[in-house]
Amino acid sequence: MRAGKPNPRSNPEFSVSPSTLTVSQALDLVLGFCRTQLSNPPPSERVSLVDALGRVLAERVLLDQDQPPFDRAMRDGYAIVSADLEDPSRQLHCVGEVKAGEIKEFEVKAGTAVQIMTGAPVPTGFDAVVMVEHTLREGEDLRVGKPVRSGDNVARRGSERTAGEVVLDLGKRIQTCDLAVLAAVGRISVQVYRKPDVAILSTGDELVPIQQVPQPGQIRNSNSHSLYGQVARAGGNPRILESARDDVEDLRRKIAAGLECDLLLVSGGVSMGKYDLVEGVLSELGAHIHFDSVAMRPGKPVVFASHGKQAVFGLPGNPVSSFVTFELFCRSVLKAAQGLRNEVLPLVPARLEAEVHEKSGRTAFLPAQAVASSSSIHIRPVEWRGSADIFGLSGANALLLVPEEVSWLPAGASVQALLFDELLFEEGRGMK
Ligand code: AMP
Ligand code: MG
Repeated sequence: MRAGKPNPRSNPEFSVSPSTLTVSQALDLVLGFCRTQLSNPPPSERVSLVDALGRVLAERVLLDQDQPPFDRAMRDGYAIVSADLEDPSRQLHCVGEVKAGEIKEFEVKAGTAVQIMTGAPVPTGFDAVVMVEHTLREGEDLRVGKPVRSGDNVARRGSERTAGEVVLDLGKRIQTCDLAVLAAVGRISVQVYRKPDVAILSTGDELVPIQQVPQPGQIRNSNSHSLYGQVARAGGNPRILESARDDVEDLRRKIAAGLECDLLLVSGGVSMGKYDLVEGVLSELGAHIHFDSVAMRPGKPVVFASHGKQAVFGLPGNPVSSFVTFELFCRSVLKAAQGLRNEVLPLVPARLEAEVHEKSGRTAFLPAQAVASSSSIHIRPVEWRGSADIFGLSGANALLLVPEEVSWLPAGASVQALLFDELLFEEGRGMK
C-alpha cells in the first residue's frame, strides 16, 4: 500500500492545530523548546587543540602563569639603569648580552649596560631597555642618543595579565585567535560541548541520488546536500539518510532511524498534498507537533515537533524554502545544543539598493546580496524565480526581511537582513 494514512491536514481526526503562526511566535516556540527541553549544560567531550576550532568551550580556561612570566625586553637594544642617564652624554659600558630564552645575571655597577634581544628576560638590576637604533656602540663603549625613563621597553612580569585570570569563558566559540590563547596556557586538549548529530532525511517518490540521471518525472535530491552544508556550518554532525518514498511504512522506518540522532531534519512531504505524510507519521511515532504552518515566504508549511529531547523539523521540499526555514529555525536548535547563547534572530541593519514588491502578506525572507559599501551594508535583492530556484539563491549571502504588513519597500529604505554567509565587498572597497 502506498499511502497508509491520509495527510493529517486534510483529515479533521488528526489532533494537529491548523493555525498558522507568525515567524516570531514560531521562533518563540523553538527557543522555548531549546531553553526547557535541551540538556543544560549539553553533553561535553575532550578534543585535542588541533580539533578545537569552531567548538564551544565547556570549561573556563584560566591563565596558568603571569603574563609576561618574567620582565621581558620589548625591543632589541640595551638593558640599562635609567638613573645612569640623568646625564644624557654619559658613556656606558657594555658587559655582555642576553638572548631570548636565557636567564643571565650581571654585576650591575654605575654605567653598566647589557645587550639584549626582544623577548629576553631583563636581568636583575636593570630598569629600562633602549632601542639599538638609539645607540652608538664602539667596542664595549655605548652612547645613548635619546632620553630614557625607568620602565621603557620593559614589559613587567604580570603587567598584561595575572595567573588565575579567566582568559576564555565557558560557552565561548573557539575562534582562530583563541587557539593561540589555548596554546599559550599549555592546553593540548580542551573540554567542549559535543557536536549534535543531525539526521537528514529527504522524502519524495520523485527523488533520485545526485549521481543518477533523472528519468522523466524525477529530480535530483539537492536538499540533503544543502542541508548537509548548513548543518556542518552551524557546528553539527550531519548524516544523510537514504531518502524515503512517499509511503507511510518507509517514512515510519526512516523517521524512526532518524530519531536516534539529536536532531532530525525531514525535507518534503509537509504540505497539503495527498502524499504529504510526514506530520502524520511523526504524530504516530509519538512526536509532539509544536507547529506546522508559519506565515512566511518562502516556506509556509514547516513542521516543528519534538520527541523527548529530540527536535524534529519537517521542512518544505522546495529547495529555497528548505534552505530558508533551516536558517530561521533549525540553526537556533543547533546553536543551543552546543551551548551557544541564542536569544534572537541575528538581523543586521542595512540599506536597500532597489525597490521590492512583496504581496504575499506573509513575513518574507527574500534572497539578497549583502554588500559592504561606503557607509553601511547594502542589500541588493537577487533575481530568483520562486521557491524551487536554487540557482537564483546561489548568488545570495543574505535574506532580506520584509515584514508581513509591508508590501513595498522603496530603494534606499532602511531594512534588516539575516546573513547566512560572509559579507560581500563592493569592487574597489577595502584596503589595497
Ligand atoms: P514537497 O514539499 O514534498 O511537496 O515538495 C515540494 C517541491 O520540492 C516538489 O517540486 C519536490 O519535487 C521538490 N523537492 C522535494 N524534496 C526535494 C529534495 N530533496 N531536493 C530537491 N527538490 C525537492
Ligand atoms: Mg513531496
